[in-house]
Amino acid sequence: MSIPNHILDQLNSQADLISIIGRHTTLKRAGSEFKGCCPFHGEKSPSFYVNPQKNIYHCFGCSVGGNAISFLRDYET
Ligand SMILES: [Zn+2]
Repeated sequence: MSIPNHILDQLNSQADLISIIGRHTTLKRAGSEFKGCCPFHGEKSPSFYVNPQKNIYHCFGCSVGGNAISFLRDYET
């Protein structure tokens, strides 16, 4: 089953990325962003950033990045 792109866009704009990712790692506010330990590669010092304005995430440790949809797709499957 494939989901039309405009539905995905709508889901993505309504998804609360902080709470979705917050179920898997502890995020702390850092200025306008949140940072925490990356749930993808396992680390001790936080290099995983979430931007709630743009609803995107990025890890400087393992270079993963994306939005709520890609997080759910990549992490929870
Ligand atoms: Zn990472």
